[in-house]
Amino acid sequence: MSPMIQRTRIKLYAALCVAGLLGLAAREMEFGPTVNLQRDIVILNDGIADEAMLAMLKEFLHRRFSLPVRVEKNPLDLSVAARPKRHQWELRELLAAVLARVRGQGRCVLLTPKDTFTLDMNWSTGIARCDGAAAVVSICRLDPAFWSEAQDRALHYKRVRKIVLHELGHTFGQRGHCEDWACAIHGSGSIGEIDKTGDDYCKRCNALAHTAVAGIRGKL
Ligand SMILES: [Zn+2]
Ligand SMILES: [Zn+2]
Repeated sequence: MSPMIQRTRIKLYAALCVAGLLGLAAREMEFGPTVNLQRDIVILNDGIADEAMLAMLKEFLHRRFSLPVRVEKNPLDLSVAARPKRHQWELRELLAAVLARVRGQGRCVLLTPKDTFTLDMNWSTGIARCDGAAAVVSICRLDPAFWSEAQDRALHYKRVRKIVLHELGHTFGQRGHCEDWACAIHGSGSIGEIDKTGDDYCKRCNALAHTAVAGIRGKL
């Protein structure tokens, strides 16, 4: 990708986050009785067969935020977001499908193996509603094997953790992107930039996430 395309993509990421503020009508998602949408981080598994990845993410998020983490099979019909001609799925429509089924204070991450894009981007790995209830993360292009590179499960998992942290950061109130490359909230326009970006929040972004998580705990 050219630098110009990368810059455009980074700007678009920020624009999408702001667009998410417009909001959609929310209804309660039909989950099992053990799920508390006001408290839990819910991973909606959209057909990912890699149980080890799901277990890794569940344990990582629980340790990172000290909130219950539930992995649920995705019950949503996402067909509206399909773009068969390009063999991809549209991120804003995936996000809208999740938002339409969750209450405002939940933290619901649709984790999908689908190849995703939005607007004029060739691809994009994630989207979130800023200060909101939902995010979408595609694991598809985070897999080195997608790029015909050697299998590297550790690298794939590391990228997945990083993007989930990034998108959750937006749900915790992060509207723009951090300028610190060492911070997971830094914008990325390529796989190389994702790898260059840090694994966790910087001090400032962590404070924002901490405040949001404390607010969730305070309502329990
Ligand atoms: Zn972002
Ligand atoms: Zn930061």
